[in-house]
Amino acid sequence: MEKIIEVSGVSYFYAEDDPWVLDDVTLSVNKGEWLSIIGHNGSGKSTLAKCLNGLIVPQKGSVRVGGFDTKDETNIWEIRRLVGMVFQNPDNQFVGATVRDDVAFGMENHGIPREKMIDRLAQSLRLVKMEKFADSEPHRLSGGQKQRVAIAGIVALQPLIVILDEATSMLDPEGRREIIKTMRTLNKEHGLTVLSITHDLEEAVNSDRILVMNRGKVVREGSPREIFKTPELLEKIGLDLPLAIKLRRLLNQRGISLQDTALTQEDLV
Ligand code: ADP
Repeated sequence: MEKIIEVSGVSYFYAEDDPWVLDDVTLSVNKGEWLSIIGHNGSGKSTLAKCLNGLIVPQKGSVRVGGFDTKDETNIWEIRRLVGMVFQNPDNQFVGATVRDDVAFGMENHGIPREKMIDRLAQSLRLVKMEKFADSEPHRLSGGQKQRVAIAGIVALQPLIVILDEATSMLDPEGRREIIKTMRTLNKEHGLTVLSITHDLEEAVNSDRILVMNRGKVVREGSPREIFKTPELLEKIGLDLPLAIKLRRLLNQRGISLQDTALTQEDLV
């Protein structure tokens, strides 16, 4: 399996007298994988994301993205192109007056030739199903549509990895579903590697793998089924369990077996 991200022994602090915000973090991400990084607020998830696109360079350890070391400043543009980030607040991510201008802006910034831009613009808006909105003003769109435009802007740069940094947390349930569906298509059908940083465990249920962070450390790692088999740790660090897990536990407590319900093991992770 090709490793597209390799983080080895990474520790980071923001200022000299501050505590380590990341503490000896080691992880790798496979090409085409959907990895969720979960943990409550302040556990270091966003700081880790910033290390992955070279926005910050850790004081200890190394980060390699697509084989490029983030420590080497000459790699920074390549890394920024390889790793697209979608943030929490869709309103803070727009620079263009129309959807078309907005998606084009990132490409201009990356020096993509004009004739390629036209094709990529159409293609990326089509992939996020926003082609009909090319002339719309971004602020008129719903939260989910705005995030899809942000994703189109990133897809246009042909990244290998997209990091969703709490990208659905300001959206209503419909908006959340739109984003997850869009990303799932890009992941499954186009081989895009997805790293989803979230405190919403419901969203992590469908990942290939989950990494649990607490106080700057990776405290658990495994498939959703492995992680949710012992939900006590997740509760101990203050995370709200997915509904399916709560239901499974309730059924157990009431002595009801799955055969007595219309549910299958798959329904309960
Ligand atoms: P998470 O994404 O899990 O909520 P963060 O990476 O944002 O966690 O934050 C981890 C810790 O780093 C927190 O204690 C936070 O206060 C601190 N922190 C985050 N950003 C900065 C910053 N720019 N300067 C100083 N401390 C920061």
